[in-house]
Amino acid sequence: MDIALARDWVRAIAAAIAGQVDYLTLLDAAIGDADHGVNMHRGFTAALADLEDPRDRTAGDVLVRVGNHLFANVGGAAGPLYGAAFRAIGKALDEPVADSKQLLAAFAEGLAAIQRLGAAVPGDKTIVDAYTPAMAAFDQALSAGASLATAAARAADAAEAGMRATTPLQARKGRASYLGPRSMGHQDPGATSTALIFRAFAQATAE
Ligand code: ADP
Ligand code: MG
Ligand code: MG
Repeated sequence: MDIALARDWVRAIAAAIAGQVDYLTLLDAAIGDADHGVNMHRGFTAALADLEDPRDRTAGDVLVRVGNHLFANVGGAAGPLYGAAFRAIGKALDEPVADSKQLLAAFAEGLAAIQRLGAAVPGDKTIVDAYTPAMAAFDQALSAGASLATAAARAADAAEAGMRATTPLQARKGRASYLGPRSMGHQDPGATSTALIFRAFAQATAE
């Protein structure tokens, strides 16, 4: 990961979110307050507009900046969670070029930040349900000697599987948890945006 890949990743996320605003909002309408698409779009639009700051020297600088924009602009539950995650990933990438192992450690810091803040565990029907299997798949692929692009594609596949697996679950964290059993039968919006973020990473590394 270098600064160019970090920027490519953010551009790919912003494009994916922009293309899925209505879908994310529809998912959130079923078990939340119908703002997840709009929230994420606002955040990544702000991040995209500030992606070329010449003071940024490393991938970490870029990703900390993104985290700050998500904190300031996304709002709701997802803003602080994604904001903290991108800041943590960025803080862990403070050298000009990070190898795959450093990237794995940085992604792990992102997940840890989300869980410190939101206290969700796998199975709670949240972001964590897509992020956790993505991390495991990324780790496994790298350990098996896969390239960054292949490991990133495996991570995205696993994030999407985790996202789909949220559908039957009853939410135990966030706004959807207020619905109790009525949250079952709907795919979690946050797990869905997390899957988009990992798919965007796979696209950025494949280029
Ligand atoms: P809000 O619910 O405040 O309107 P959003 O709609 O932007 O916020 O985001 C909702 C998503 O946030 C949920 O679908 C869920 O994935 C995620 N989420 C909520 N609470 C938590 C938590 N404690 N940990 C991880 N993710 C969470
Ligand atoms: Mg919402
Ligand atoms: Mg809201």
